[in-house]
Amino acid sequence: MSDTIVAPITALGGAVALVRISGPRALDVAQAVANAASPSGSAQVKRVRYTTNDDGLATFFPDGKSFTGEPTVELSCHGSQASVEALVSVCIESGARPAEPGEFSYRAFMNGKMDLSQAEGVRDTVAAQTELQLKQANLMRDGKFRNEVRIVRETCIAQLAAIDASTDFSEEIGEVDLPKASSELCLAEARLKALLSSVESARAIRDGVTVAIVGRPNVGKSSLLNAVSGRDRAIVTDIPGTTRDTLEEVVNVHGVVVRFIDTAGLREALDMVERLGVERSFEALENAHHVWFVYDSSTGWTPEDEALCRAIQGSATYIANKIDLDSTSIDLKEGAIPVSAVTGAGIADLLLALVPFTEGSEVPLPNQRQAPLLARALEAVTAAKETFCGPIPTAVAATELMAAIRILGEITGETASPDMIERVFHDFCIGK
Ligand code: GDP
Repeated sequence: MSDTIVAPITALGGAVALVRISGPRALDVAQAVANAASPSGSAQVKRVRYTTNDDGLATFFPDGKSFTGEPTVELSCHGSQASVEALVSVCIESGARPAEPGEFSYRAFMNGKMDLSQAEGVRDTVAAQTELQLKQANLMRDGKFRNEVRIVRETCIAQLAAIDASTDFSEEIGEVDLPKASSELCLAEARLKALLSSVESARAIRDGVTVAIVGRPNVGKSSLLNAVSGRDRAIVTDIPGTTRDTLEEVVNVHGVVVRFIDTAGLREALDMVERLGVERSFEALENAHHVWFVYDSSTGWTPEDEALCRAIQGSATYIANKIDLDSTSIDLKEGAIPVSAVTGAGIADLLLALVPFTEGSEVPLPNQRQAPLLARALEAVTAAKETFCGPIPTAVAATELMAAIRILGEITGETASPDMIERVFHDFCIGK
């Protein structure tokens, strides 16, 4: 961190770009490449001309007031690759070195400007593609998740301190207040459970959801795909087996990216139902989070549907399509959701069932790195609480509390190994 680093922090392609210089010599480098007098005090913006002949604005951030927590200067220039590269080059000639991927955020973390979860929030904010992803990334970046983790960690630290004090100064302090300790740990447990309860929603928001649409030919799979995507992409015909290839549609369902895959062409597969069952050859099915098994409600649930259903195995949502046709005399398959791909009846409810959370939720959702750590911390907190309630000595509770404190610290970065920290920043790209 004694180096001064430089990199563009905007993507190429715009009219204007920003180049950030951060580190102890940031001011010297900026003054060498821009005709700006030394600024003083708080952040300042100056109009400058660069030695590259381009011009723009230089924003000076004094030590501690910048993103990285170091003296920083951000130079705007014209956005062409040539102009940005020329400016970065002169900065390097003047003493800076090119920043590594994620190095600005790494420095911000090391300088205590943010914890590890907030750094992940920065990464996710930059990468957000949907409104929900952005909202979650903002909650993470603003420290809402960190605050929850900290509260639990501080509870564990306080309880551990109480155990230590009662062990070291038992005569003066007396025994640990067990009812108080276990009720505090109960609250901590509830907080962790609340965070963990949203793991599925987090995954759906972050990675999206894949839905494989399966069923016999002509039951209306392609029509359903068209109905959910609102487009006529899948070719719909009444000749069985006309859709040969797998078709995909990506639809934004209440802010979640849902990839629908029409596994059409099951006509041949139907003849090979047993083979299909053995080979489980449909990758789409294997990788899908949900399977929509469509059947034709006007003909009812047939032996072919049953055979295909058995061959596919696994759980599925049964969809009784074509309810606009007269099928009053035919019973629906138990649990099937009645819809009509043609009139659109039932489609909205079907989509809603894919998005298992409310849009207004302010609960910060854990990511893939954080969720297993939360689960391990929960185990430790529960074990500590149980020892408080049981006859086992508090020394066992102390061991569990120490484990919880360490694991929660891995989430925020306080006790994360250099390896773990490196892995987090590894996902960042240059300029972040
Ligand atoms: P796929 O082979 O399962 O993809 O079935 P298609 O989507 O190609 O539909 C086969 C036929 O059923 C076409 O003539 C569609 O217009 C018709 N169809 C599909 N869904 C409905 C529906 O909900 N109601 C009615 N009345 N016809 C439908």
